[in-house]
Amino acid sequence: MAVQFTAEDYAGRMRRAAAEAVQAGYAGVLVTPGPDLVWLTGYQPTALTERMTMLILREGEPPRLVVPKLEEPDAQAATGAPVLEFVPWTDGIDPYTVTRPLLGPQTAYAVADSAWALHVLGLLRTVSGLRLTPLTDALPMLRAVKDPHELDRLAAAGAGADAAYGQILGVAFAGRKETEVAADLAALLREHGHEQVDFTVVGSGPNGANPHHEAGDRTIATGDTVVLDFGGLRDGYGSDTTRTVHVGPDVDDEVRRVHDLVRTAQQTAFEAVRPGVTCQDIDRAARKVITDGGYGEYFIHRTGHGIGVTTHEPPYMIEGERLPLVPGMCFSIEPGVYLPGRFGVRIEDIVTVTEDGGRRLNNTSHDMAIVA
Ligand code: ZN
Ligand code: ZN
Ligand code: ZN
Repeated sequence: MAVQFTAEDYAGRMRRAAAEAVQAGYAGVLVTPGPDLVWLTGYQPTALTERMTMLILREGEPPRLVVPKLEEPDAQAATGAPVLEFVPWTDGIDPYTVTRPLLGPQTAYAVADSAWALHVLGLLRTVSGLRLTPLTDALPMLRAVKDPHELDRLAAAGAGADAAYGQILGVAFAGRKETEVAADLAALLREHGHEQVDFTVVGSGPNGANPHHEAGDRTIATGDTVVLDFGGLRDGYGSDTTRTVHVGPDVDDEVRRVHDLVRTAQQTAFEAVRPGVTCQDIDRAARKVITDGGYGEYFIHRTGHGIGVTTHEPPYMIEGERLPLVPGMCFSIEPGVYLPGRFGVRIEDIVTVTEDGGRRLNNTSHDMAIVA
């Protein structure tokens, strides 16, 4: 069982966000419902509505939650609620006018990436001089670096996904539709502790060449290469892993060669992980292997993405991302080769940065498993 986060944990995160905002030259942080609000307060409204909810974090001020009066009881039930000051508003009152005096004289704020344009534009219309920057650009490290309890949850989510993979190798592939294997994967993720399944990619044969193919009506056949990419949330933290399997033992030479190449790229990028190297260095490490192997033009996807209270979040392992790796960061390393009309291969593990390297949170074999 995961250690439960307390109101004091959330208070600490909110203090840190407010302090880091000031250091970065902002008056504070504005957070609407979404992953940032979950991470900062534990509060997730049961339904996202057009009625504005907004957390205002300013150093030296109590964290304030502007919330529709009718949703206040829900918000009061959140773990972080005891350390929040509630500012309820009722229908017929303009929430932006309610918010304006809470922002203080300085008007440069970081705003949650997921804030609705409706609310952002409402504030900009109402608060003169307001300047907003996406939170990820303003404070890129805020959620990217995980504390030990968060790492425990991410490791547990990874272990759950690994257990699901172990079992999916035993189901029938040949003669079944991708959607049926995807349903098996979803059930296995839930069986292994996940309360939410975000995606179950089953890309068989040519469908594997589309990195974002989910699962379709195609019937899987002996001789197919199948990309399995699945994940979701366990105790509020994400899993995301990919293995590429083969239906039947007769593996085409090129499939074998491409799989070996992707496997080497994944290992090489993993070995490049250590504090101080940049996100783009991880992408470059994987990309060099695949380019040198002659398949560079078919590596059409980024090498990785952050993971935390969501399964896909910044930072991204892409060319141009110069953010340095810091112990506690968690992200995917998922090189792949996608050959249009033929097949795809991807191998993906979640990795966390340690003091002297990296540690995998997925630990199933990288061998190409043979399924039936
Ligand atoms: Zn993707
Ligand atoms: Zn994935
Ligand atoms: Zn991924």
